[in-house]
Amino acid sequence: SSVKETLGFQAEVKQLLNLMIHSLYSNKEIFLRELISNASDACDKLRFEAMADPALYEDDPELKIRVTYDKAARTITVSDNGIGMSRQEVIENIGTIAKSGTREFFERLTGDQARDAHLIGQFGVGFYSSFIVADKVTLITRRAGLTKEHAVKWESTGEGEYTIETVERPQRGTEVILHLRQGEDELLSNERLRTIIRKYSDHIQLPILMKKEVWDKDRREYVPAGEEETVNRASALWARPKSEITREQYEEFYKHVAHDFEPPLAWVHARIEGKTEYTLLLYLPSRAPFDLWDREHRRGLKLYVRRVFIMDDAERLMPYYLRFVRGIVDSNDLPLNVSREILQQSKDIETIRAGCVKRTLGLLEELAQNEPEKYARFWQEFGRVLKEGIGEDPANRDRIAKLLRFASTYTDSDAQTVSLADYLSRMKEGQEKIYYITADSFAAAKNSPHLEVFRKKGVEVLLLYDRVDEWVVANLPQFEDRPLQSVAKGDLDLGKLEDEAERKEREREEREFKDLVSRIQEALGERVKEVRVGHRLTESPACLVVDQHAIGMNLERLLKLAGQ
Ligand code: ADP
Ligand code: MG
Repeated sequence: SSVKETLGFQAEVKQLLNLMIHSLYSNKEIFLRELISNASDACDKLRFEAMADPALYEDDPELKIRVTYDKAARTITVSDNGIGMSRQEVIENIGTIAKSGTREFFERLTGDQARDAHLIGQFGVGFYSSFIVADKVTLITRRAGLTKEHAVKWESTGEGEYTIETVERPQRGTEVILHLRQGEDELLSNERLRTIIRKYSDHIQLPILMKKEVWDKDRREYVPAGEEETVNRASALWARPKSEITREQYEEFYKHVAHDFEPPLAWVHARIEGKTEYTLLLYLPSRAPFDLWDREHRRGLKLYVRRVFIMDDAERLMPYYLRFVRGIVDSNDLPLNVSREILQQSKDIETIRAGCVKRTLGLLEELAQNEPEKYARFWQEFGRVLKEGIGEDPANRDRIAKLLRFASTYTDSDAQTVSLADYLSRMKEGQEKIYYITADSFAAAKNSPHLEVFRKKGVEVLLLYDRVDEWVVANLPQFEDRPLQSVAKGDLDLGKLEDEAERKEREREEREFKDLVSRIQEALGERVKEVRVGHRLTESPACLVVDQHAIGMNLERLLKLAGQ
């Protein structure tokens, strides 16, 4: 074997470890879930790579996960015969946080343990959760396809440094040995470990093996009986009938698939039969991930073909505006050797994608209808993303439009709670249009002088202040036959909202100020297109208005920023 090298963790890893140990202790059992989840991922990756290169199986084709413990040595070991890691992969995956969203995560930490625990969970605890119960962790791994001399041993006490050396390991795959902290001996029990595995990892598809134990009368304790047995159900969760799956099992499966720490907000599980047969299990997370706005954000679903894992992040299965959805699709029809290139052209994939969209929108409609509080939570986290769908998915525009929520002068709060249907139900006698204003911020929208006449007449105006809103209104000319009208654009035509006296007054004002208007027009010259006597304002003396067909001022600013 080679010399042992000592390397430092990235500064962030240190900070993360520290936080994790302190804020997640009350949840310490999850270390086992995380290690088993990684072992399962590693086996999935091996199976996938072996489709192109079956030699990777060596002579050990039955993928499995093992959990053992050693009372005398005070260790717990989780091992797998999955893909393993090369030296470089160990350094990249275990010694650094390569995730996108890392900076945002550290910026949001507050120092408050309960709040930070949430943030860490959201960020992902993964492998480092081992240090909640262990004061030393040893990882020994060999990448499938490398020879036995190219195994790697990694070790750390979680305090800022780790050692790494090349060792021999005949079997491929990874074992993680946890050297327990003082006071954690209660974990050194067959019964205890089994209970944790059944609770958190029952949904894992591969067998999780433990040694059988028998009662030894003389020693008055349980001792290993030599044989192994499978502790979990070891079948694909999504392939079981819904009635046999508990809420907890759905939730734990989500955490594994989404690498999330918190339970999901809601899910939909369906088997679709017909020309294309597939099963989907889709989840809405409770919170937006840190990198939701990052172009490199992982998105898409896990794809399986007849229970065999094919790929992570299959983007083709979901449109961009539903990039927050997590879960799996298991197809009965696709070939096992399907690649990303094949996915691009597959008619089956198009059908599946349409099905995923339909079920997701259905789930959102159901929440909006039956669980408005949950829907409000969803909207707060992901509303701005869903709004993109108005432009991106014309085929589903009407369904998406019903799901939109806005702030409005009716509530005068920045909370986006008003649906277009709510708006329609409150329209005034004679009102023909849905009025809105777009601005950079809620305050700017709410205080706009354009609203004065509407407030006076008690006509509701939607207050749009998200960046994406200009894009929404540009793609949504009407809702249920009612045109959307910006209160800041063109001639303000209040239509039948204006009564006879008001119309006379307006005409009188226009005559009276004719001279003034042309003098102002002259003074401003080229800088404005037209000066008009307006009827929007009740208190402010003047305001800027754009042409009915011009792009909104806010969008104009955005385009300028983007260099257009
Ligand atoms: P995540 O699973 O969310 O990627 P983790 O912290 O759990 O984050 O793991 C980090 C990375 O380390 C994994 O993405 C994987 O590349 C690698 N890894 C961890 N455990 C194993 C394992 N048992 N076999 C192979 N690779 C592993
Ligand atoms: Mg993991």
